[in-house]
Amino acid sequence: MRMLVAAALLAATPAIASADVTIRFIANEGVYITDGETAVLIDALTWNSYDGTYALPSDEARAAMIAGDAPYENVVALLFTHIHGDHSDPAGAVEFLNAQGNGVVAASTQITDAISNGEGAASRINSVALSAEEPGPWQLPAHDFIEGAWVFHREGVDNITWHVNLAGVSILHLGDTQPQMADFSVWDDTEFDVILYPYWFAQMPEGVAFLDSRPDARAIAFHIPAAATPLTIQAGLGEREYLFGEGSEVVIESE
Ligand SMILES: [Zn+2]
Repeated sequence: MRMLVAAALLAATPAIASADVTIRFIANEGVYITDGETAVLIDALTWNSYDGTYALPSDEARAAMIAGDAPYENVVALLFTHIHGDHSDPAGAVEFLNAQGNGVVAASTQITDAISNGEGAASRINSVALSAEEPGPWQLPAHDFIEGAWVFHREGVDNITWHVNLAGVSILHLGDTQPQMADFSVWDDTEFDVILYPYWFAQMPEGVAFLDSRPDARAIAFHIPAAATPLTIQAGLGEREYLFGEGSEVVIESE
């Protein structure tokens, strides 16, 4: 364990890190994205595994994300895609707001309504009031490198897909988008270097068509069930790239 922590600290030292962007996987669809100076968390604090179907962050990772400790430093924004408990934790968001005085939270109104006001933090809670009629994109006021757009997941559940542009690397997080119902045109004017997608895209013609329509983007699957093994993942995804297992990392070279 001590060796692992040392390795993580080493990897984060400025002497080694250039402006490359690192995506560190936490659990399910939870990611920490950083260029070494600025970082965001998306769907990273969660509470409901749905009876063990989906992995949750370890206790250590959860505490470090809330406190802003290594390896989860420099987080300026805690973003959530939708209200399901394998993607968002309103109580965790309150803890984050109280622990990190400069951090902001942004999520659909369905989530922010459940984030009771941590002392003095109301101004740092951004309710994203997007809908099928007004899908965005919408820019986060405090941080113009972050924008969200509403894309269909399930009737009655607002799903905000997040676009983060750090060090010239453009990343899209699709949350639980359902490709056969989704209107992807909200992102027609945006180029992506990386697309993080729920694994079912790879198993549905509409999902594959969307990924194929973005041939320049590096497509990476996640939301893989906790019980998956290398064999079941390969059966489901073939040779496609994926994130699975807390602490897995992908490094994207910036131009
Ligand atoms: Zn989900």
